[in-house]
Amino acid sequence: MSRVYLAPCRASDSDQELARVTEALWRRAGFDDIFEARDLPALKLHVGEPGTKTFVRPAIAAALVRCMAATGASPFLTDTAVLYRSRRDNAVGHAQVAQEHGFGFEAVGAPFIPADGLNGAEEIDVTVDGKHCQRVSIAMGIMQARSMLVLSHATGHLGTGMGGALKNLGMGCSSKRAKLRQHHGQQPRIDADSCTACGTCADWCPSDAIEVDDYAVIDDQKCIGCGECVAVCRDDAVRFDWAVGGRELQERIVEHAAAVVRRKPKRIGYVTAAMAITKDCDCLGRDQEPLCEDIGLLASRDPVAIDQAVLRLFQERAGQSIESLSYPKTDATIQLAHGERMGLGQRDYELVVV
Ligand code: SF4
Ligand code: SF4
Repeated sequence: MSRVYLAPCRASDSDQELARVTEALWRRAGFDDIFEARDLPALKLHVGEPGTKTFVRPAIAAALVRCMAATGASPFLTDTAVLYRSRRDNAVGHAQVAQEHGFGFEAVGAPFIPADGLNGAEEIDVTVDGKHCQRVSIAMGIMQARSMLVLSHATGHLGTGMGGALKNLGMGCSSKRAKLRQHHGQQPRIDADSCTACGTCADWCPSDAIEVDDYAVIDDQKCIGCGECVAVCRDDAVRFDWAVGGRELQERIVEHAAAVVRRKPKRIGYVTAAMAITKDCDCLGRDQEPLCEDIGLLASRDPVAIDQAVLRLFQERAGQSIESLSYPKTDATIQLAHGERMGLGQRDYELVVV
């Protein structure tokens, strides 16, 4: 049975308190042996879309960098380019956003180096033999790093019900081409009766796939199924066939995650901030209210177990599932079941409170 460690804390805690809790969690989880002197380990995180305020606090990343560096390794912060129109869709803009959000070298102690190159195209193809994907494309910097720490922010998610470690691994470590493949098969529809023709979805659509006249119309030939229009429409006029698309999206994400995990056996640690848990992930460039009270920081060597622990702890705190408070037609446990099938971990876990 896997172990998940929980250190209770809050997003409103001081930097000093978050650093103290993070370092105590690290020691209790015994992560030192994941890293070796002269390793160049990746600290995979999400620096937050401009406009978002609830991304993981830089003080946590800084404490993790100190812990990794104390093993003799030289860590770097990393993420990959996003598919949608954003300053984070290329390495230069992404590094600028990291700096503006407090993840600069002076604050965190490690450089931010996007893992997929200047335009999100530096990738390595890997065979995974999954249910949907025979081969997947992972960001080159992720594959080259011998060890890794996956720092995730637990949130709801429009396509997967929950964004946690598995999503951070699978979608977050993929090249742009691979992100497109994961979204394959999901295309939204507009409910003309609900649409107010406000145009917000067209402004956000990364593929210029939406024309708005009396109501919005999606061009299926251009649509890449990224789901941005679902996230930004405040009139509930954009609809996905969640029952079909959501399952396949989650399973494809997990198959990409498998390529990363299999590359680094026993050399990945997971830390998840179950704090400021919002309806949408940190890709949504808006300030959001948390869905429930903060839980704390979790650590594990098992990405399935740590995501399962987030779901269960959220249910205990909020009295409802994270999906029911964010996207009720999704079932976040699909990714956990497929993670078990792909050998990434197990849903049974022992919780150790630090
Ligand atoms: S954001 Fe929603 S309401 Fe506005 S145009 Fe798009 S579908 Fe219609
Ligand atoms: S899912 Fe929506 S935002 Fe994304 S490409 Fe298709 S129409 Fe555009």
